[in-house]
Amino acid sequence: MIPFDFEYYKPSTIEEVVHVYQTVTDRGQKAMFISGGTEFITFARINKITTDAIIDMKGIPECLVLEIQGNELVIGAAVPLNKISDSGIFPLLGESVKQIADHTSRNKITIGGNLFSQLKYREGVLPLLILDAKAKIASKDGEEVIPLKEIFNNQTGLKNGQFLVQIMIDKEYLDYPFISLKKTRLSKIGYPIASVSALKKGNQIRAAISGVCEYPFRSSKFENALNDENIAVEGRITEAMKKLPSGIVDDFEGSAEYRQFVLGNMLEDVIEALKEGNA
Ligand SMILES: Cc1cc2nc3c(=O)[nH]c(=O)nc-3n(C[C@H](O)[C@H](O)[C@H](O)COP(=O)(O)OP(=O)(O)OC[C@H]3O[C@@H](n4cnc5c(N)ncnc54)[C@H](O)[C@@H]3O)c2cc1C
Repeated sequence: MIPFDFEYYKPSTIEEVVHVYQTVTDRGQKAMFISGGTEFITFARINKITTDAIIDMKGIPECLVLEIQGNELVIGAAVPLNKISDSGIFPLLGESVKQIADHTSRNKITIGGNLFSQLKYREGVLPLLILDAKAKIASKDGEEVIPLKEIFNNQTGLKNGQFLVQIMIDKEYLDYPFISLKKTRLSKIGYPIASVSALKKGNQIRAAISGVCEYPFRSSKFENALNDENIAVEGRITEAMKKLPSGIVDDFEGSAEYRQFVLGNMLEDVIEALKEGNA
């Protein structure tokens, strides 16, 4: 049971979302966007979050799109993870999100909810970062399309009143060789000790990582070290590890040493899988 009262809105246009948000906040109350609602329900039940109103994005047609439009693949914020993997339209993202939670939960969990989860993993963002995806966001100031990395760099996130409408990916990226790896503590299902999405564009490996630092990241310094062909693979991995953007997570799921060890092995697999002749 959710131990507080809240209003539920399910608008059918972006303008309506903005209007509802504005009306609630003008009353001095808190409004929250939801897409799948699973995290909201889980956290509300244990009083980890509270809100006066929730605005459900599943009524917005733009947020339910999953299709090629012109030169881009467009994915609505409220598209469930299973729909993305079952469609086969974007294999790298499909593989990556297939490793999140269990099959039943993935019918509900959406890509927008995963990206803006309060948990540190947000594994759905990994393929999007390496594919230079763009985000269409909306607020009372209108709609804008910005590089997704601007939202995730330095963990700036969305500003109050901004919400994700869609993600756009240049169609040309959909065919590059890729690999997606995840290691959990015990079973196949679980939060990642380390999770890596990587692809090869030309002779350069791009990689984004979750589970190792406090937030998912893609870093040019890390990638430069990984791609330095002047040194042997082991040395490249050692150098890349020195470029992690923050300290390594050390918790009950896995110690920092273990996470570093696991990530090192995964990077070796990435380099091997994407090397000339294998990719
Ligand atoms: C059993 C289980 C296992 C899990 N395992 C993993 C895992 O292995 N890896 C992993 O990465 N995650 C994992 N998760 C976390 C899951 O991905 C998140 O909880 C996710 O937020 C749920 O998606 P949702 O669509 O239900 O989110 P919601 O409850 O709808 O929203 C979650 C957050 O996103 C915000 N939000 C939602 N839609 C929008 C929008 N359009 N614009 C702006 N903000 C928005 C909400 O305000 C809220 O803060 C797991 C969750 C469960 C239940």
